[in-house]
Amino acid sequence: MDILIDKGVCIGAGQCALTAPDVFTQDDDGFSELVPGREDGAGSPLVREAARACPVSAIKVAP
Ligand code: SF4
Repeated sequence: MDILIDKGVCIGAGQCALTAPDVFTQDDDGFSELVPGREDGAGSPLVREAARACPVSAIKVAP
């Protein structure tokens, strides 16, 4: 699973980190980033839910 966060689009709403805290966290500026070591998001069924929860669709998940 590839997870892409468009930091140019992210507004730091934090919904991703709330929805899938084992994969998403927030950097010092509040923008989304992936938890170190969880870059592939493997095994977390909440990743797609987090992508859906993002209010600005900054998260892309493939495939
Ligand atoms: S939910 Fe979207 S806007 Fe909010 S921190 Fe995550 S990627 Fe950024």
